[in-house]
Amino acid sequence: MNKFNLETYKKRIFKTISKYKLIEPKDKIFAGLSGGKDSGSACYLISKYVKENKINCEIVGFYIKLGDFIPQRVIEIIRQQAEICEIELKIYNINDFGINYEKIAKLNRPICSSCGTIKRYLMNKIPREEGATKLCTGHHGDDFIVFFIKNIIGKNIDWISKFTPYLKGEGKQLSRIRPLFFVGGDENRNFCDEIKLPYINEDICPHKFLKQKIDIRREKWYQTIKEISKWQPNFREYFLEGVIEIAKNISMNLSKPNECEICGEPTNNKICSYCKLLKMHSNIKI
Ligand SMILES: [Zn+2]
Repeated sequence: MNKFNLETYKKRIFKTISKYKLIEPKDKIFAGLSGGKDSGSACYLISKYVKENKINCEIVGFYIKLGDFIPQRVIEIIRQQAEICEIELKIYNINDFGINYEKIAKLNRPICSSCGTIKRYLMNKIPREEGATKLCTGHHGDDFIVFFIKNIIGKNIDWISKFTPYLKGEGKQLSRIRPLFFVGGDENRNFCDEIKLPYINEDICPHKFLKQKIDIRREKWYQTIKEISKWQPNFREYFLEGVIEIAKNISMNLSKPNECEICGEPTNNKICSYCKLLKMHSNIKI
């Protein structure tokens, strides 16, 4: 493994931002923060990019709190991250949207999938209603390689169309930017350590706090990518460039999303998965 070089890392991300036009004047970008190293790095670097290039745009950090069981130190770290990035921070609570996470955890379905549904839904709806033009997330290269392989295995080929640094919004779907598309999770950790950006070190999945079983295979996937990178030079970069090409080709043949019959948010079905989840959730007693 190559030794971490802060300048090379920063250059690669700035190049991603400019090449894929992730940030433009008059943008209002909502950057999701989780307290982790990845979203912290993404938020820091887009703020830095805007300052260094004197771009007239607004960046807002935001966090969606899944419940009162989330330790206060997570919130504290997020506040510190936003302060270091010199951006405004907004915190939302899912209870205010009529969801109880403890109930969701009791549903007879995988918790990672429920959690993903809630986060994807609210991370699109909340910023859009606040006037955002784009949503920035901390997904990195290793995430996209794993998503890609998993979607090939699951034959969810259409999903691959979303794996690109800039995903243009459609209707109520907000445009998404992923400045960390060409870097890996370990590099984000090294970056935070070097610039002393605080982050929650352990897995911040809420399931941990509710003692749920989580997907331990994720870590194995990351290890596998690391192993391949040892003997295949530029593996991550070349693989992801290939993914972008495939995504481009698939997205040309896709139909536009519908609006959910219940809530009006974008979905590929009649009823969105969030509304389906809410319906199941309303039958649970705690
Ligand atoms: Zn819906």
